[in-house]
Amino acid sequence: MRAPICADCLKTEDLCKECSERKEKGELSDLDVNVSRYLYKLEKTLFISNTDLVKTHDLGDFALLIVDGNIAPLIGKQGRMIKQISMDLGRKVRIVAKGDVRNMVQDIISPARLYGINVLFKDGSESYTVVIPDSDKKKVIMSDDTLRKALSTILDKEVTVRYS
Ligand SMILES: [Zn+2]
Repeated sequence: MRAPICADCLKTEDLCKECSERKEKGELSDLDVNVSRYLYKLEKTLFISNTDLVKTHDLGDFALLIVDGNIAPLIGKQGRMIKQISMDLGRKVRIVAKGDVRNMVQDIISPARLYGINVLFKDGSESYTVVIPDSDKKKVIMSDDTLRKALSTILDKEVTVRYS
């Protein structure tokens, strides 16, 4: 498993000079460090050697984990593993597989379906509207605010959610 912090820092309590500098620059957050070390410990009992943690995002009540590679072990059978991870980290966790933007958005809103992502041009800037079927509204687990934050993080633009 690769993580946002270096292999040495996974095993220690303190951060090396290089990782400390990256943290000062804002490239690394406390959540990155905590989740990296947590997954490193988990790797002793869970087969996640082909699972890399790319980045974490703190959304308040939710932690967003961007993961590259095989995410199935982190979800577990019937979501048992992700429930465990949520309990251990003390907050709800959403795991998003790094890749195609549409798939990443789908991971966030799942089990709700994605109708589409529309691009809006206004006053020279771009924003997105994520469209979810109205009938799936109750399947969206995140609050409106958290969902918007999560989608803006992934799409790196202002996002509006529309149910239709
Ligand atoms: Zn380090």
